[in-house]
Amino acid sequence: MRTEDPTDPPRNPDSLPDSSDPSGPCPRCGRPSNFELRSYGDVTYHPTLMVSGRTGNERVPIERVVVLECSYCRQGIVVVEEERTGGIRGGNSGRITWHGIHWWPTPGSGTLGPEVSTAVAEAYAEGTRALSAAAPNGAVAMFRTAITYMVNDRGSAAAQARPDLKEKIKQMIVDGGPMASLGPWADHVRLYGNAGAHPDLFGDVSVDEAAEVGRLVATMIEMLYVLPATIAKRQAERKP
Ligand SMILES: [Zn+2]
Repeated sequence: MRTEDPTDPPRNPDSLPDSSDPSGPCPRCGRPSNFELRSYGDVTYHPTLMVSGRTGNERVPIERVVVLECSYCRQGIVVVEEERTGGIRGGNSGRITWHGIHWWPTPGSGTLGPEVSTAVAEAYAEGTRALSAAAPNGAVAMFRTAITYMVNDRGSAAAQARPDLKEKIKQMIVDGGPMASLGPWADHVRLYGNAGAHPDLFGDVSVDEAAEVGRLVATMIEMLYVLPATIAKRQAERKP
């Protein structure tokens, strides 16, 4: 039996919003928020299944697009959702719920400015998306990738020439300067990234641990890209 029951949906404040759980971080403004359903349209239908409706036999939608409005920034976001019956994609019985599989705007993309290297920003945004989808192993692996791009972008030629991230970070510390003070953090992220890529060897990374690693990476981006850009801007403004 297929039933649509919107009452008592499972809530997760860390996951991106969809119509079955209209709360979580806003992909546009990044704030924890609640969302209201503005409109929706069916996109993909079950290849064979039909149900009797008001106009005779009707196709059964399995994917749809919804517009949700953020109660914080008051702007709309677009979510592509898939239907799950009894919590299972293509399930036969139980409650029908809709789960987000794509979000627009791209979560995390609005939080970093043009001063941040594109490779670093994209890796960080992907880590943030994984974290939002409660995928901590994938998140820390992407945060580790963001660190690798940071060292390749801002590290010395000697650090860039090192074969792997462990050696790059060692070289960063030897080189001194602002990168050296970030060395221990970078190494912390590297170790978690390794664990995330090899949970069979190191055990799973928890969502809380991945969120902490994400905050470290955000602070490193702030120190290496955002603050220097702000300082340069202030200095330019002071020139007569
Ligand atoms: Zn918002």
